[in-house]
Amino acid sequence: MTKNKTCMNRRNFLSKGLAGIAGTFALTNMGCKGTADKGAEEEKKPKLMYRTLGKTGVKLPIISMGSMEATSEALVRTALDSGVAHIATSHYYQRGKVQQFIGRIIKDYDRDKILLATGVTPQPVDWRTGTFSKDTDTAKFERDFEKSLKNLDVDYVDFFYLPYVGKKESATFEPLMNSMEKIKKAGKTRFLGAASHSFVSEAVRAVADSGFYDVVMPAYNFLLKDIEERTEAVDYAAGKGLGVVAMKTISGVSWLTGEKQEAVSNPKAALKWVLQNKNIHTVVPGITTFDQLETDLSVMEDLTLTPEEKKYLELARLSQNKSLLCQGCGTCLKQCSSAPDIPTLMRCYMYAYGYRDLPAAVRNIESIKDNPIACADCSSCVVKCPMGFDIKEKVLDIIRLRDFPPEFFA
Ligand code: SF4
Ligand code: SF4
Repeated sequence: MTKNKTCMNRRNFLSKGLAGIAGTFALTNMGCKGTADKGAEEEKKPKLMYRTLGKTGVKLPIISMGSMEATSEALVRTALDSGVAHIATSHYYQRGKVQQFIGRIIKDYDRDKILLATGVTPQPVDWRTGTFSKDTDTAKFERDFEKSLKNLDVDYVDFFYLPYVGKKESATFEPLMNSMEKIKKAGKTRFLGAASHSFVSEAVRAVADSGFYDVVMPAYNFLLKDIEERTEAVDYAAGKGLGVVAMKTISGVSWLTGEKQEAVSNPKAALKWVLQNKNIHTVVPGITTFDQLETDLSVMEDLTLTPEEKKYLELARLSQNKSLLCQGCGTCLKQCSSAPDIPTLMRCYMYAYGYRDLPAAVRNIESIKDNPIACADCSSCVVKCPMGFDIKEKVLDIIRLRDFPPEFFA
């Protein structure tokens, strides 16, 4: 399939979902400009700014790399050659293919100088309560960790994360703690961590109080409505010696430009804002283009916000109600017992309509197993989302992605 045809297909998909705010977006950030590979770039030596990851004592650049969307070998190599030392992976990213891809690249580097993180999602996760189920299959969890080592072709990782930690009970869920401890004792991970997408403040505090983990990875950005509470939780965790790695740090909003509703994002301002909190020790933005890499690395030159960046942050906050960013508050899951994993579906929606990144939306939607989706049979939605999302409309729109073969968006 040619690139032009692919772009047309993406446009076709998006143009059919004209409901609400999304339909009036300009196609400016659609990723059809072929920016994933620039080929031979001039070698740049960016200034690196380091922080110490809490009690682990590990010193690392404040910009690390998320790998969920990683597909360009040249890009990952350039990041490593530029001083990026820490790469976060997960066994479910492209069903282990990302781990294999990263594993092949790091073979050419000194393993001792690379900090590898991986997470394994326990099955099942109870989305409604933010806890893991009593039916959690710990043997599979351990097997998936072993598979991760095999995929990465390494004997150990530096950080092993338990993802989707939500309510307090999930941070101290003994069966999984036992598995993680076993893995650490066997020397297969240097440090243990927990990552949290929802009930984040509660999770971060519980992780800190448990005394079990070395690092915590909260979703953290300037647009989150509970950001003050999250900041207090992060400061609390750092005060207790935890290393703090922030994820979901860059988020866009939409606002009216002339007559158009446009998706707007200023990653540099967003990253600087996050990193101005010294208790955030590093961030793991997904980096898929050389432009993004350059922008993200340039943050380390100076964390001071320029007047334009401050203006962007202010305007973005004011436009927050038009934001596509799900707050992960879990209200929808509490209000509807039949709801699918709405926060993940809203994330897919933001990728598709906010960032115009359909492949990312497709990869995220793979975790939605409900078929059919209960929303399809609902006459009206009972959920009152604090972001004002029309849940039924958005769920039914984005779930259409499952009807297309993956190659359609490749
Ligand atoms: S969709 Fe709305 S109610 Fe549900 S988690 Fe996101 S912000 Fe909260
Ligand atoms: S549309 Fe129906 S099933 Fe879907 S979240 Fe709303 S109430 Fe629940």
